[in-house]
Amino acid sequence: MKKIVICGSTGSIGTQALEIIAADPTIQIVGLTAGSRWEACVEQAREHGVSTIVLDDPQAAESARQNWSGSVLNGQTGIESMICDSDADLVLNAIVGAGGLGATIVSLGEGIDLALANKESLVIGGDLVMALAEGSGARIIPVDSEHSAVAQLLAAAGPGSAERITLTASGGPFRGRSDLAGITRDEALAHPTWSMGGKISIDSATMMNKGLELIEAHHLFDLDYDDLSVVVHPQSIVHALVSMNDGATLAHLGYPDMRVPISYAIHFPERADVPVPSLDLALAGELTFEEPDLETFRCLPLAIDAGRRGGTAPCVLNAANEVAVDAFLEQRISFEMIAEVVARTLAEAETVSELSHFTEVLDCDAESRERAAEIIAREVPA
Ligand code: NAD
Ligand code: MG
Repeated sequence: MKKIVICGSTGSIGTQALEIIAADPTIQIVGLTAGSRWEACVEQAREHGVSTIVLDDPQAAESARQNWSGSVLNGQTGIESMICDSDADLVLNAIVGAGGLGATIVSLGEGIDLALANKESLVIGGDLVMALAEGSGARIIPVDSEHSAVAQLLAAAGPGSAERITLTASGGPFRGRSDLAGITRDEALAHPTWSMGGKISIDSATMMNKGLELIEAHHLFDLDYDDLSVVVHPQSIVHALVSMNDGATLAHLGYPDMRVPISYAIHFPERADVPVPSLDLALAGELTFEEPDLETFRCLPLAIDAGRRGGTAPCVLNAANEVAVDAFLEQRISFEMIAEVVARTLAEAETVSELSHFTEVLDCDAESRERAAEIIAREVPA
């Protein structure tokens, strides 16, 4: 029996993971965590026979305790102690945002394999996270579809022969536009090919998501930014390309369905059945590719630049982006302001070139959030 903890179980990735696990009698869920939606989390625990849950929000945890007889912990310390005591073989980290770093650190620190959807962990603390995994021997199995595709291609290619990685991007709902003025929340949330949580949907619309993914790929696959590229592919059928030293390029294809990479990560190194049709290229029709528009979608070059600078720069970028995306979702700033807030926060922050401890990452995250919030407050007085 494989024992799994699911962090962020009530989200888009979390619920799809539960669906996959429900179809597999060889997997037992030993812990669930969520933010504040305690009713949904308790219902999941009842349905999947889980005895311990963690809620980030203390009030939500209290409500869960009053309505459920299982063990309810709360906050970061709750996540840490639950994972440490879980005897898990795998932790799926599907928390959104920098708040997912704690679950990544404790899982890898305990030597537990990590199925990682929370790309923000690698964006803000990539060097330290990779060193932690190397030190403890725990594996990081990417859940992000492009990175799952790359990992599968690299496994097929054999060691040492990959020279270049290309991630595909759908281009989001505003591909082809040269003016991002007047975009509404609903327009930005309506992704053309993938159905995802709110934050990543906005990141896809600004193309920040692809920038975060380049930083994620840099850490996971140990490649320089010069050897990483992005191509816009609106049909989202090709997920990634790996170019080899002998001129061959391998591609990973499939319909856009997150259950495929989630299942791959959960069952790794095995493969399990997923109820997804196999690809029919004639039915899929035309596959098109184009250069990303770096002038209109400023978040992508901002992320690439922060990635190249390294150190605290990607952490500043990520924190500013999270604050700006929240403000956009709460309709306090315009869509175009997201990139502006990120650019100004990076310009105002003093970035250092190396991080030596996770506390520095957390400090930088907290400071950058404050700075980004101040920038928004200056722009939009209360
Ligand atoms: P979501 O918003 O749908 O779900 C997030 C989950 O995290 C929820 O269960 C929420 O309760 C929990 N959560 C939020 N803040 C928390 C905190 N501070 N502590 C503990 N739990 C917290 O998000 P999602 O779309 O499922 O994305 C999750 C992660 O996976 C993100 O990092 C995203 O970039 C990545 N990802 C998602 C997709 C997708 O298709 N949704 C694809 C690739 C990568
Ligand atoms: Mg992705």
